[in-house]
Amino acid sequence: MNLEDAQTGLIAVAHEAHARGWVPATSGNFSARLASGDIAITVSGKDKGKLAPEDIVRMSAAGTAHGRLKPSAETLLHLQLYDRDTRINAVVHTHSVNATVASQSSSGRICFANLEILKAFSGIKTHATSIVIPIFENNQDIEVLANEVERYMTTHGQGIAYLIAGHGLYTWGADINESMRHLEALEYLFDYDRLSHSGAAENE
Ligand SMILES: [Zn+2]
Repeated sequence: MNLEDAQTGLIAVAHEAHARGWVPATSGNFSARLASGDIAITVSGKDKGKLAPEDIVRMSAAGTAHGRLKPSAETLLHLQLYDRDTRINAVVHTHSVNATVASQSSSGRICFANLEILKAFSGIKTHATSIVIPIFENNQDIEVLANEVERYMTTHGQGIAYLIAGHGLYTWGADINESMRHLEALEYLFDYDRLSHSGAAENE
């Protein structure tokens, strides 16, 4: 994938995520790995519903920007994923209400099992399985947070997504379309979680 294709693909998913309310008020960021090994990523602080090609910048795999525009403030969380797994070629990060509510679970993780939608995740072929989404404490020091995510994944496996408490969601995929499919499935699961909890509360 070259820079132009990455810009086109990332703008499309950012616009869709914005239209669905998942990246309000300039939040969220999107990236893709280029054939050269460089990373294309949204610049800091742009309205994700109005992105233009120049709002997606190229940087080295070490995070050095090619040009004067500043990559996303959360660049290190994207690089941590690209660095650990060459099969990851796209990363999406959103700040939806659903993800933020889910991230406040006091158990430090959220689990889903026996749901048909789980087949949306790469490598899952049956509903008869479960996934665990870990929740990390929010931290304005992104390097500390990236190191914590890496430590967790080294011990517990990479999984398919993680939440940052009171903040939002990270997920990824082999390409931009797969990462968007994972995002849609996760939003479905967070919707499901909220509705099933409110149903339980009504019965009490
Ligand atoms: Zn964020």
